[in-house]
Amino acid sequence: MNEPVFPSADLTPLASVRERIAQAARIAQRKPEAIELIAISKTHPAAAIRPLIEEGQRVFGENRVQEAQEKWPALIEETPGIALHLVGQLQSNKADDAVALFDCIHGLDRPSLVSALGKAMDKAGRQVPCFVQVNIGAEEQKGGCPIAEVPELLASARTAGIPVIGLMCVPPVGIEPAPFFALLAKIAADHGLDQLSMGMSGDFETAILLGATHVRVGSALFGARPPFNG
Ligand SMILES: *Cc1c(COP(=O)(O)O)cnc(C)c1O
Repeated sequence: MNEPVFPSADLTPLASVRERIAQAARIAQRKPEAIELIAISKTHPAAAIRPLIEEGQRVFGENRVQEAQEKWPALIEETPGIALHLVGQLQSNKADDAVALFDCIHGLDRPSLVSALGKAMDKAGRQVPCFVQVNIGAEEQKGGCPIAEVPELLASARTAGIPVIGLMCVPPVGIEPAPFFALLAKIAADHGLDQLSMGMSGDFETAILLGATHVRVGSALFGARPPFNG
C-alpha cells in the first residue's frame, strides 16, 4: 500500500493546509517555516476567525480597510501577537488608516500610492513593510504595476522611504498559474528582492514549488465566500 498523498480527512482545515504547505516545502527542499501562511478572513465574522486563533494561527489578511477596522481591533486586543496583512487594492485616501492598522501591505502598485503611503508612514512614524503588486498577466482590468514599470516604482518607493520587501501577484483566472509565478520570481530576483507573496487556495503548493514565501489562503481555511465579495 502506498502512503496517502493528501492529509487525512480528520484534520482541521488549518492543520490540513499546514500539512500541505509542509509537503510542498519538503518537495522543494525548503524549510516549512520559511513559508508564511496568511489566513485570508475577508467576509468572515469574528466568530469564524476565533477558532483559527485558538488553533494557533497568528497571521491574517483582509482586502478592505473598513471591514478590517470593524473586525480586528477587538480581536487583536484579545490575543497579542496577531499580524494583519492588507492584500487588496488600497485607495490613496485610506493610506493613513492602512498604516495605522496593518503590519504589511501587499498592494503597492502605482506612483500615487507610493506618495500617499510614504507620507502616511512619515506622519505615523511607522514603517510598514510592503509588497509591490505586479500585474503579472498584463490584464487590463486588474490591479498591479505593469511589469515594464516595476523598476521605476521600486526606485520611487525607495526614495519615499517605504520598505519594499518583495513582489506580489494574482495570476489570471482559469489558466495554469505556474509560468506567472516563475515570472514573478524572476523579476524579484532581478531586483534583489527575496520575498514572494503568491499562491491562494487553488494553487499555493505550485507557488511554494516556485519560491513563494507568503501564501494567501482563504476558502481552504474558512470555506466558500458569498459570491461577488472579492
Ligand atoms: C481573497 C484573496 C485571497 C484568498 O483567496 P482564496 O482563493 O479564497 O484562497 C488571496 N489573495 C487575495 C489578493 C485575495 O483577494
